Amino acid sequence: MVSFQQHIKDTFDNAIQHKRCHFFENEIFIKEDHGIKYQINYVPSLAKKAVPSTIHESSDKLRSVHQDKPINPFLCPDPALVVKEVDNYRILLNKFCIIPHHLLIVTKEFQEQSQPLLPPDLLIAWRTMEEAYAKPGVIFYNCGEDSGASQRHKHVQLIPVSDQGVQPPIQEMLNKIDDPKHGEVYSLNELPFVHVLLMLDPRALKSKDDGVVEEYLGQMYFGLLDSMFHQIRLADPSQLQGKKPSYNFIMTDRFMMLVPRRSETGVLTSAQGNELTLSMNSMSFAGYLLAKTEEERDTLQNTPDLMAFLQQLGFDRPDPAVDQSTVATTDAPLAS
Ligand code: AMP
Repeated sequence: MVSFQQHIKDTFDNAIQHKRCHFFENEIFIKEDHGIKYQINYVPSLAKKAVPSTIHESSDKLRSVHQDKPINPFLCPDPALVVKEVDNYRILLNKFCIIPHHLLIVTKEFQEQSQPLLPPDLLIAWRTMEEAYAKPGVIFYNCGEDSGASQRHKHVQLIPVSDQGVQPPIQEMLNKIDDPKHGEVYSLNELPFVHVLLMLDPRALKSKDDGVVEEYLGQMYFGLLDSMFHQIRLADPSQLQGKKPSYNFIMTDRFMMLVPRRSETGVLTSAQGNELTLSMNSMSFAGYLLAKTEEERDTLQNTPDLMAFLQQLGFDRPDPAVDQSTVATTDAPLAS
């Protein structure tokens, strides 16, 4: 029987060959800033792609082409891109990818991308990652209008991490936490924007029992979400009034992290003196920055403080001096 990894490869190769999936060649530049490595992916051909890159753009652009309602590419996806169907989900290849085998897990029925993840969403994301790649990659979810998502239909995403590719920069910082406790919520003083993260317990993740893993991931995620709301309340309570929060979710086999978003875009000034407005999603907090033009690439490369750029996307930390590493604790009951 063909392994799932091989099946993904075959489906990808076939979809590329028949032009149902488009792989955008990219040049990779590694930039180090404040001891953190970022990978700048320069993809000039993306600038010409006639597909919206944000939810804000998506309804306008697609509506004008198709008069009545916006297209939902995930409701009846191209069968050439479907890797697998599991219960209420479809696992798809990303049609426009810059990383081969970038997967999307979409719900079969429409659900809003502004909804939080549910325990079954987390379980399928984790199980898929376990099987899909030779070594664990990154799971991410761009939740809400300002998160950098381009589609409103619920979709969790998975990318492999190659040996050359950078690890999420947070991973390196986590190594600095003394004796990290699984399930305890941390906020790192090095990061100037509001964020919450926790270390996952490998014993729980390795369980073969789906019920155990689903419950564990659900508890971790909702504990983290609670802490994130608490942090937003401290940073800027007005943000929670009458508005669904936007945030980015990143998960590896070691940690989960949430970064609430104030803005979908950040602004950098290029050497030519132009103000460049760059849309960013979870990937930027995982260390991957997308540049579609030379000017964007050079500006990202030369900007002296990428952390300050990321800070524009989120909320300023209330006061890192007062707020020590641990911001809250969740219960992390474990099936041993
Ligand atoms: P996001 O932009 O984070 O909401 O992620 C949505 C992803 O879906 C983007 O990376 C697109 O490349 C991808 N995408 C857009 N249209 C399709 C489609 N018809 N089939 C599969 N993937 C798509």
